[in-house]
This record gives sequence, structure tokens and C-alpha cells, in this order.
Amino acid sequence: MSMISDNLSKVKAQIDAACEEFARSPHAVQLLAVSKTFPAQAVREAYAAGQRAFGENYIQEGVEKTLALADLPGIEWHMIGPIQSNKTRLVAEYFQWVHSVDRLKIAQRLSEQRPAHLPPLQVCLQVNIDGGANKSGCRPQEALQLACEMAGLPRLQLRGLMVIPESAPDFIASCAAFMPAKILFDQINQAVGGMDTLSMGMSADLRAAVKAGSTMVRVGTAIFGSRG
Ligand SMILES: *Cc1c(COP(=O)(O)O)cnc(C)c1O
Repeated sequence: MSMISDNLSKVKAQIDAACEEFARSPHAVQLLAVSKTFPAQAVREAYAAGQRAFGENYIQEGVEKTLALADLPGIEWHMIGPIQSNKTRLVAEYFQWVHSVDRLKIAQRLSEQRPAHLPPLQVCLQVNIDGGANKSGCRPQEALQLACEMAGLPRLQLRGLMVIPESAPDFIASCAAFMPAKILFDQINQAVGGMDTLSMGMSADLRAAVKAGSTMVRVGTAIFGSRG
């Protein structure tokens, strides 16, 4: 087995174990493999091992990989990094998912620029759940209004929320950081409906994220290695 396929198996086993431990149903948590900074060949290896959903942070790098890997059927590209408004067209054209929509202007542009021959862009609203100073994401108190507005845009499908809390020192602290996101998710979904995705948890805090209700963990390092 290659290192990447070996790592993928280990991460999936971790997710399964956490689902079992916290009474989540076995397929409740999807794995997004975060391939930022790694070459297309690394994605190809993960794909060969069965992985289909990949996350990219940098638009240009992500677009290049989608082009280099256009021969792989069913591969799914998720933008998870900050988006400047002059880059929305590339995102709307090359990605299937965007987790990092954090203001209405970006959502509107993505909807307008989504090509008519493609299905609606699958989007999450990014929320700065703990008010971290260096973070993207809307403020929690703005999230409901924004989610309602996004849900009304014709070429977007609102799937849920993404959060990236400050890294916490231990499991309990991580759980405490994730919990408000789950509460906010449930509140917004009650009002807006149709949301099925709570994108939270990375290599280091995956178990806490599963406990707190994540439905999609975004894992880079544990699959592809450290980013140097
Ligand atoms: C890089 C990144 C990840 C993956 O982080 P790891 O610690 O490498 O698992 C997840 N989400 C976002 C938004 C990222 O930028």
C-alpha cells in the first residue's frame, strides 16, 4: 500500500471509531481530503484508494489541479479557503462545493457566475464561531440572515455551515469550541431547512468534531503528510 492509501485507511478507521464511540451513525461523517500544497499526483493516489472529495485553499492552485485531473470520473472539488470577489468566477466554474462563503456579495457573484450547464453550486456559510481575530467567516449573530439570503439565490444550494475554531489544547476544549457551531447549525436549519452539512474538524481535532456533530471533517496532514 502507498503511504497515502495507508493514511486514508487510518483516518477512515478513526472516523468510524469516533462514530461508534459517540453513537453517530456509521456514514454520518464524510471525509474531505485537503490536498492544498500537494501535487496532482498525490490526489491521484488518494483517488486510486477510493477517495473522491478533495479540498483546496488557493483558487489558482485548485483550478490547476482540477484541469490536471479532469480524467478522473466523479472527483469532487471543494473550495475551503478565503475568496476575493474578483476570483469568484473561477470558483463558480471549476468547483462543485464552496465551504468558505462569508458574505452576501460573494454568494451573489457565485450564483450569477455559476455556468448554466452545471448543477447549482453546493455552498456552506463560513461562520467565525469563536470570534478569532485572524479569521474569515461571518459573525454568529449575522449567520441566520445571511443563510436565508443565500438560500434564496437561484444557482446556489445552501448545504450548511463551516467553522474553524482556534486550535484547542485538548479534547474537552475542542468539544467546547465546536458545540456552539452545532447549536447554531440546528437553529438556522430550523428556520431555513434543507441543510445537511456541518463542516468542522481537521486532522488534530477530528474526534471532538464527530462528538459535537460534524458531518464533514476536512483532513490534510493526516492523509498527505505535513506541509513543510
Ligand atoms: C488546511 C486546512 C484543513 C486541513 O488541516 P490539517 O490540519 O492539515 O488536517 C482543513 N480546513 C481548512 C479550511 C484548511 O485550510
